[in-house]
Amino acid sequence: MYDPLKSRDIPAFHEFGIASYWAAVTPFPDTNAVALPSDADVVVIGAGYTGLNAAIEIAQQQQRSVVLLDAGGVGAGASSRNAGFLLPGTGRLGYSDYASKYGDEVARAVQNEFAASIEHVKASVADSDWPCELIDARYLRLGHNAKAAAMLQRQQPAYANTLLNAEWLSPEQQHEQLPGLKWKHGGLALTPAAAVNPRALTGAYLRLAQRAGVTIVTGHPVTKWIPSMGKHRLIAGGHEIKCDQVLVCSNGYLPQQPFPDLSRRQFPVLSSILVSRPLNAAEQQYCGLKVNDLVMDTRTLKYYYRLLPDGRILFGGRGAVEGRHADDAGQKLRMEKALAATFPELTDLHADYFWSGWISVALDSMPRVFSPAIGVYTSAGYCGAGVAFASLAGKRLAQYCNGEGVPDLPFYQSGLPRYPFASARRLALRAMYSFDKFKK
Ligand SMILES: Cc1cc2nc3c(=O)[nH]c(=O)nc-3n(C[C@H](O)[C@H](O)[C@H](O)COP(=O)(O)OP(=O)(O)OC[C@H]3O[C@@H](n4cnc5c(N)ncnc54)[C@H](O)[C@@H]3O)c2cc1C
Repeated sequence: MYDPLKSRDIPAFHEFGIASYWAAVTPFPDTNAVALPSDADVVVIGAGYTGLNAAIEIAQQQQRSVVLLDAGGVGAGASSRNAGFLLPGTGRLGYSDYASKYGDEVARAVQNEFAASIEHVKASVADSDWPCELIDARYLRLGHNAKAAAMLQRQQPAYANTLLNAEWLSPEQQHEQLPGLKWKHGGLALTPAAAVNPRALTGAYLRLAQRAGVTIVTGHPVTKWIPSMGKHRLIAGGHEIKCDQVLVCSNGYLPQQPFPDLSRRQFPVLSSILVSRPLNAAEQQYCGLKVNDLVMDTRTLKYYYRLLPDGRILFGGRGAVEGRHADDAGQKLRMEKALAATFPELTDLHADYFWSGWISVALDSMPRVFSPAIGVYTSAGYCGAGVAFASLAGKRLAQYCNGEGVPDLPFYQSGLPRYPFASARRLALRAMYSFDKFKK
């Protein structure tokens, strides 16, 4: 599999052959991609949630000409292969982290922006008329031990006075609702949240982009960026395009070139998903998962799971360290074992589908919308939680590059910090995974 830390460039059509459940079951609109034009007001690199939303805003609200480019097809990156949890959050920081660093008022405003990101997705889906299997859901953060659950319980009052609702589930309530789950320590049920088919959501944004008049070009990796006299020249798929502004929306798929500084400001990490066979009615009753429950537990290396509308379990967690091992049989086996450990009474739950994708981890666990160079803008670092937030961040990015006001929040006020020892990122990750294995 393509590896952003090993490759200088991203290959054209890199996603072809990905065996995801979503690719197998989801109809997708015709992309109607065209040849690369020679100029545009704005070029957006990366046609995932961020890039699609940025391009829609630029074409529709700002009435500027915009070319949306991708090395693969539309949604070639994480956007078509994630778990479809629309979460009231992003990055890895919770309410108390924001409150202790920036104060309660900012922390509340941050939570409200997260709630707004879910509303943004819902409004876009309604506007697109493209079916996305979008349903309101609860986001269940469940403690895997008593200490972790107590910490979650302590966080609950802080959600008062925000647009988020946090309900404490006692161990008894949790056991009643999810009898099959190994841990019975309780946790928080957060709303608003929603479950979606992530590939269909990409399709919905594609339809909106087409309607707004965005020019879409696929199979064109951007390999060179040449700033020249207030303009930008980009070489993509061997052709050149000139523009006034460049928006880099490549998140965890960003290769080492042509933006090496940006590449050192994030850490591409693999997340993997397996989808089981459909559970029968008795198994579904035993495990207790519902299609509108999105579960994440508090294990150091988190696992996330949901019941799909056709009765299968989608189960995700950390992937391999390097792209070349993403599809190894050992990776699939590790996930099957983790699923079995989570629902010990369910047997023969092998992976009917197994795949991986790159997420972008920010050094300080907080994503950013910022300008790394004159005329260049980016949004990245969602740390594996970007279905809702990346969608809104794309719109914010477009507002930001057009000099419009964006909310006065920490992720819109500074750049992603650089990793001090960028070349050691993988070593540290390997050590962390080994330590976790050793603890068990
Ligand atoms: C397995 C997995 C499960 C996840 N589950 C969830 C979840 O349930 N909930 C949640 O909130 N988040 C989840 N995420 C994270 C979420 O999918 C991402 O945060 C989000 O999709 C990021 O969208 P994006 O548009 O910024 O980037 P991406 O969708 O990754 O798109 C980046 C695009 O940039 C293109 N690109 C890169 N470099 C170039 C170049 N040089 N030239 C041209 N094109 C280029 C790539 O081809 C790619 O299409 C998950 C991620 C993974 C991998």
